[in-house]
Amino acid sequence: MDNVSKIKDRLSVVDVISGYLKLQKAGANFKASCPFHNEKTPSFFISPERQTWKCFGCSKGGSIFDFVMEMEGVEFPEALRILAAKAGIELEKFDSTIKDSKDRLYQICESSARFFEKQLSYSGAGRRAIEYLKSRGLQETTMAKFRLGFAPDTWDALSGYLRNSGFTEKEIVDAGVVVKRQPTTNNQQQGSTTGFVRA
Ligand SMILES: [Zn+2]
Repeated sequence: MDNVSKIKDRLSVVDVISGYLKLQKAGANFKASCPFHNEKTPSFFISPERQTWKCFGCSKGGSIFDFVMEMEGVEFPEALRILAAKAGIELEKFDSTIKDSKDRLYQICESSARFFEKQLSYSGAGRRAIEYLKSRGLQETTMAKFRLGFAPDTWDALSGYLRNSGFTEKEIVDAGVVVKRQPTTNNQQQGSTTGFVRA
């Protein structure tokens, strides 16, 4: 069993989130005031049956891993370490934390989506893009719901971000979020491994 499954086996969504938020029972579920947007009436719900959480105010939701990433402001490898410690599971080494490559590819796609979302919300160019989207009639809640992002005008920002987040170059290329720069000569075997371009 891979580490992600082991952790999900040992930690319930209620255990994890109750470590951060004050929960109230709501039928078979639990509710709380959402920590990710300002609200007076709780619209953050936890389903013990599905082992998921969802905020109906800001549309954020997901697994315990998504929660810890959002709450602690960290990427997947760090969330994995936090939850493994909580579950009492020993991870041997940072690079070998997730053997299951499918999980790894999923997390690269998720981290990429978050990267572009952050660019839209926090970069200067991204803020201008938000103004443009608003001029087209889109509201910020709609942008968040459909996870719209902004791609900065550089060719290596995403690959750098993903490598800093602990993913290897091979994994990043395998996930299909960046492609290797094609060689300019006709020697197809020796593509540059340092040159990434955004897909
Ligand atoms: Zn919310």
